Amino acid sequence: MARDCTVCAHPDPEAIDQALVGGVSLRDIARQRGVSKDAVNRHNKVHVSAAVVAIRAEQEREHGLHAARAGAWAPRRGAGHPRGVEGG
Ligand SMILES: [Zn+2]
Repeated sequence: MARDCTVCAHPDPEAIDQALVGGVSLRDIARQRGVSKDAVNRHNKVHVSAAVVAIRAEQEREHGLHAARAGAWAPRRGAGHPRGVEGG
């Protein structure tokens, strides 16, 4: 059962995924993990992108929540919430 992706076959592919998501360059990852740059590149495009999309969506959702919260608080200043923003 040959895997054509040496990154997926790597003993610690998650570390490589995290490095990719974290913006580490392909060359550095390849050198640090002992895989070829081409393999990292391909893995990044074929296997990581879906995961990255999911992570980004989650991050955006979190940012959206924060933004919505801030927006909800601002116009209500003093509109019947005695504790205001301080309570956190
Ligand atoms: Zn892969």
